[in-house]
Amino acid sequence: MFYTKTKLPTGRTVKTEITDENVFTKCPECGCELPVDLAEILSDGESDLFSTSIICSRCTAKRTQSHLRESATIWLSVWARALKSQ
Ligand SMILES: [Zn+2]
Repeated sequence: MFYTKTKLPTGRTVKTEITDENVFTKCPECGCELPVDLAEILSDGESDLFSTSIICSRCTAKRTQSHLRESATIWLSVWARALKSQ
């Protein structure tokens, strides 16, 4: 069993067992709370609790849309340059 140990301002210490249902993180983009399965995060052997962040599905969709928009813009400007050079 793994648990967290937090010392309260009153001096009392609270121990909480870590389970697959009580670990959370915040999306670094919008700050929403996300449930985390630590076993899944650490299973690749490369991720760790300090450098790994998880982006929520809404921010992932925004990033994908933004990336697609940038790709389309680049493609259109390359195409426009190619047409001008003819
Ligand atoms: Zn988010």
